This record gives sequence, structure tokens and C-alpha cells, in this order.
Amino acid sequence: MGAVRIVVVGGSFGGLATAYELRRHLSPERAEITLVAKDDQFRFVPSFPWVAMGQRRLEQISFPLAGPLANKHVAFAQETVTGIDTATRVVSTNAGEHPYDFLVVATGHRSANEAVEGLGPFDGPGHSPMSAGETEELAQAIGRLLADPGPVVIGAAPGASCIGPVYELAFELDHLLRHRKLRHQVPMTVLTPEPFLGHMGMGGAGKIRQLLEGALEERDIAYRTSVAITKITEDAVESTDAAPTPSVLSIVIPPLAGVEAVAASPGLANPKGFIPVDDHYRHHQADGVYAVGVAVALPPAGDTPVPVNFPKTGHMTEQMAKIAARDLTARVEGREGATAELSARCILDMGDRGAYMAVDPVRPPRDRIPTVSEGRQWLYAKQAFERAYLFSARRGKLVPTALGW
Ligand SMILES: Cc1cc2nc3c(=O)[nH]c(=O)nc-3n(C[C@H](O)[C@H](O)[C@H](O)COP(=O)(O)OP(=O)(O)OC[C@H]3O[C@@H](n4cnc5c(N)ncnc54)[C@H](O)[C@@H]3O)c2cc1C
Repeated sequence: MGAVRIVVVGGSFGGLATAYELRRHLSPERAEITLVAKDDQFRFVPSFPWVAMGQRRLEQISFPLAGPLANKHVAFAQETVTGIDTATRVVSTNAGEHPYDFLVVATGHRSANEAVEGLGPFDGPGHSPMSAGETEELAQAIGRLLADPGPVVIGAAPGASCIGPVYELAFELDHLLRHRKLRHQVPMTVLTPEPFLGHMGMGGAGKIRQLLEGALEERDIAYRTSVAITKITEDAVESTDAAPTPSVLSIVIPPLAGVEAVAASPGLANPKGFIPVDDHYRHHQADGVYAVGVAVALPPAGDTPVPVNFPKTGHMTEQMAKIAARDLTARVEGREGATAELSARCILDMGDRGAYMAVDPVRPPRDRIPTVSEGRQWLYAKQAFERAYLFSARRGKLVPTALGW
């Protein structure tokens, strides 16, 4: 039997973890693996807030994909996927075509900035660190704030699913402003669609609500919950619950959608462009197709007065990648694959310390009471995890996720 052709689309947490895990189980004689990604760099996205605050340069949290993939005998194509035909099993790109026997889609998100007028930064006056370019733009905007202080709003739009960075950005900016002795000139407000602080789209996690309420209050950061932001202008954030909140720097996390190529491929995605999968991360209908990470369709944890979507963290993405890769390997070897419930571990940077959260499973109700802990050691753990992940991923390995994210 010849080698199976496996195409992985995406070169971030989902794509890289899938390619490494597949290669761990399948030799080059057994599987030809090609990873297609539009960017030639891996970027450690959880460190984008540190880039925005000037604590990291983009180069420090990035590495070129080509070398590590070549060492693993994975072909790398720096190409932009334009369409996927699941009937003929072909991935089309700006440079050609990649036929496949198995396909893993890990294309992450598109920021649905059209959802709220003024979401940005390239579509309006809002700022958000959702990509490398947007993060560098935010770093410049924070530089302007330091030179000319004024009120700041940090929040998330209705339907957002990536809420953790809202809190990190608020605590980190507060810390930076205090360090520069500018905090007294910057009224700060957090506006969140969550029904309570720390809901995070997963119904909360143990005592994280009380921890966040206390931490924002002791830092004089005002907050409002169940807020539907409707418009971001140059000097305010408008919402349905109150008069416009003055803001010269508005950092607002957008709702997410699937990337255009996926959304436009017939039969692949739901109306938002996310890919419906079963608990092995196999596509509901298209044979041989898997999806992992932010590209996957996961239903909300429950109804909330203002919509908040289910989180898809880096840690969860890596678990999905491992489950999909093992299932795919099992199919190549003619066995049944196993699956597992997703858990989540996450460390929030709070400026001078960190907050650790562990939920298992992510979706309530849960057998275990979530672990929530606060302290300086968690900030060091988050910094150590970034270094360990980059060190290992450059060398073709994944770090044990028990270290925390
Ligand atoms: C500011 C911020 C902070 C975060 N902090 C944390 C944290 O502390 N802990 C945590 O666990 N998670 C965190 N997350 C979430 C985490 O970053 C995501 O879960 C993770 O990046 C998802 O990985 P992914 O591989 O699914 O997609 P992405 O990281 O979005 O990567 C998508 C990949 O697909 C490629 N691609 C997209 N479209 C195409 C196309 N048409 N053709 C070819 N290639 C394409 C891209 O080039 C990229 O390589 C954070 C996210 C953000 C934005």
C-alpha cells in the first residue's frame, strides 16, 4: 500500500500540533504530510498582549515554520488556501492544488468586525490584538496614550468568545500606567457581554468571578456586565445599557467567524464559517476531513442576555489536534480511534501576578470543582510556559500541557 496523502491547513497551534502528532505515529513511508499556511511564521498568540504592552517584540515570540517541519519530514507550502472541494478531495491555493486522502483544517478565525460599527483597527477606530499586524498597531496606540493620557475602554463585542484577553489587557495596562505614574490620568472601564465577570463563555469557573471583581475593584477599574457594545467612535464606546463611555483608546475583542476560504467552500462550514465536527473532530459529513482549534463549530454553553460564545483556547486547540491526529492514525491503521472531553487550563496575566484556572470538563456541569488560584508564581509560570513552548515547538516537540497556558 502506498503512502496516504495528508494535508494540514494552518501553521499555528492546531496545525503544528496535528502535524507533529501525526508524524510521531506515522512514518514518512506510511504518510506524506503537507502543511499549508499563508504565514511562514509560527506566532505564540497568547503573548500578543505582551507585545502590545511593549514587553515583547514579535520576533521574540515567533519562528519560521519551514525548518522544524522539514526536520519532521513534513512538506511546507506557504500558500493561501482559496477553496476546499470535499467531493474531489482537493485543496486549492493561490499557487496550485493539493489533493488529499485526509485533510485537517486548522485555519483559526476571521475577526467579524462588521458586527459592530467601529471595530478595528483597520476597519474602524477600535483596536484589538487578534493578529500580529493588529497587535503592532495596538502597541503604537498604547505609545500614543502614554504620551497623551485619557480615558480607556477595554471590552468585548456581543458574540465574542475570546474574553480572557479583555482581563489581561486591563490588568496589564493598569500595571504599565501605574509604573509610569500616569494611572491617575486614565479612567479605565471594562465592558463585557458576559452576565458576570469570568463567565468566559463557559458559565464561569469556580471562584474566578469573585477574584476578578475584587481585582478590578482594588485597581479602580470600573466594569459593567451584560453590555452590548453598538458603536466605537474616536472618543467613546456606545452601548445599549448606558450613555456613551468616554474613551480615547478603545480595545474591543470582536466576535469571530471562520476564514473566508472555509466559509465559501460548499458543504464545509456552518453559516458563521465554522466547521461542524463529531467528538473525534471528524467533519459531520465529508469523509476524511477533520477540523481543530478555532475553526471548529462549538455551541454556546447556554443562553445569556447578551450573546457570549464558547471559548476555544490554545490549550483546547492542542487537545483537539491530538485527538484528531490519533483518530486519523487509527483509521490509517484500520483501528477505532478514541476521544476525550476537553479540559482547559489557563493563566491570566494580572500585571503584577497571575490567576490560574483549571476546568475539567470545559462545559458545565462538571464533576470537579474548578481550581482557581492567584499569585506571583502564576505570572512566572505563564512566562516559563511561553519559553518552553517556543523552545520545544522549534524542535518539533510539544510541551506537557500540565505546565499551564
Ligand atoms: C490576544 C489573544 C490572547 C490569547 N491568550 C491565550 C492564552 O493565554 N491561553 C490560551 O490557551 N489561548 C489563548 N488565546 C487563544 C489561542 O491563541 C487560540 O486558541 C489559538 O491561536 C488557536 O489556534 P488555531 O491553530 O486554531 O488558529 P490560529 O492561531 O488562528 O491560526 C490559524 C492558522 O491558519 C492559517 N490560515 C488562516 N487562513 C488561511 C488560509 N486561507 N490559507 C492558509 N492558511 C491559513 C494562519 O496563517 C495560521 O497559521 C489567545 C488568543 C488571543 C487572540
